[in-house]
Amino acid sequence: MSRAQSEVPSSAAVWPVLADAERGVLRELLIHGPLPRAEIARRLGVSRASLTRATRALMDHGLVAEGAVELRGATGRPSELLVVRHDARHFLGVKLTGDTVFAVVTDLGARIVAVHEEPISSREPDAVIDQIAVIHARFVEEYGTIVACGVALAGDLTLLDGRQVVKKSQFLGWVDVYLAERLTARLRIPASAENDVRALTATEHWFGAGVGCSSLALITVGAGVGTGFVVDDRVVTGHHGRAGRLDHLPVDSAGPICGQGHRGCVSALLPNAAIVDALRVPGLDFAGAVELARDGHAGARRAFTDAGHALGVLIGTVANALDPEKIVLAGDGLVVMELAGDEVYATIEQVRAPGIPPLSLDIQPFQFDEWARGGAVLGIRTMLQF
Ligand SMILES: [Zn+2]
Repeated sequence: MSRAQSEVPSSAAVWPVLADAERGVLRELLIHGPLPRAEIARRLGVSRASLTRATRALMDHGLVAEGAVELRGATGRPSELLVVRHDARHFLGVKLTGDTVFAVVTDLGARIVAVHEEPISSREPDAVIDQIAVIHARFVEEYGTIVACGVALAGDLTLLDGRQVVKKSQFLGWVDVYLAERLTARLRIPASAENDVRALTATEHWFGAGVGCSSLALITVGAGVGTGFVVDDRVVTGHHGRAGRLDHLPVDSAGPICGQGHRGCVSALLPNAAIVDALRVPGLDFAGAVELARDGHAGARRAFTDAGHALGVLIGTVANALDPEKIVLAGDGLVVMELAGDEVYATIEQVRAPGIPPLSLDIQPFQFDEWARGGAVLGIRTMLQF
């Protein structure tokens, strides 16, 4: 190989073309952590010979290594574990809001290694793509090659004739923007785009509280209220890219009115701004409302109790509709669980269909970076063709 050639990473060195069995092995190791060969073969239903071939290919690509020896089973026989080389590859994840680009770089195990945020200079798609390209270039300088990029944003995203399209994004004012393919062309790496709640649902399913669950629901509470579903190990998109839209579920026929004109829906009671609005204190923000409630302010306690009631209706409805193995709660508005947890649990019990086994509720600590991390997980899943 000439010197010039050796300096340019080939596309295979960035991300190799993987056979089905190789992708399967990598996916099991990413999701479940180090595993012995026999266990991987059992999970995938493949022979030891084909597992050996797949493993050797992944090791040649530098994606997997042989790890520690573990004593397993009643006989305590030593078993060598296969591990993913997490630091071998990097991914770019982006979360777009109406005014900010949040970006992270993660490794192959979706661990954040760098973060960056900057205001959106213009909401025009071309300008946003330019901005992401500049961020990408800066991260490439620092981390070398980025394998893939994923962008998470609030809105309706779907596949149209096999092409990913942002049908509508209210915050960005976008209609029918082919963001994924335009970014792919611009960054010259695989890029994908997805609804932010679905990206976070996928993240919890592979790398978070939902690992090992073939059915799962995620509810996010914060600036908005979002719901994501996993059924039979697949994130549910819906026919129009709008699955999980329970944010205007009716809760209280005597409640306040939401921005869509519904009286007492989830969005009129549960989002951070709804709680602040209920207090009618000039200049108050959400942190101030939380402080008032913690100090025992009657109006603030009432607003959080009403929010807790709305969350309980939502959780109970999701449990009845999906019967998931687990419901994960995330978002920066989950202080409602601290301030009105009793109301949430009491309402869940009222709403739940009789005879359903106890609910597994998992409340996740949440930082805003999680949204952009969801974008990086899109990139990881894209490379695994999942
Ligand atoms: Zn509404």
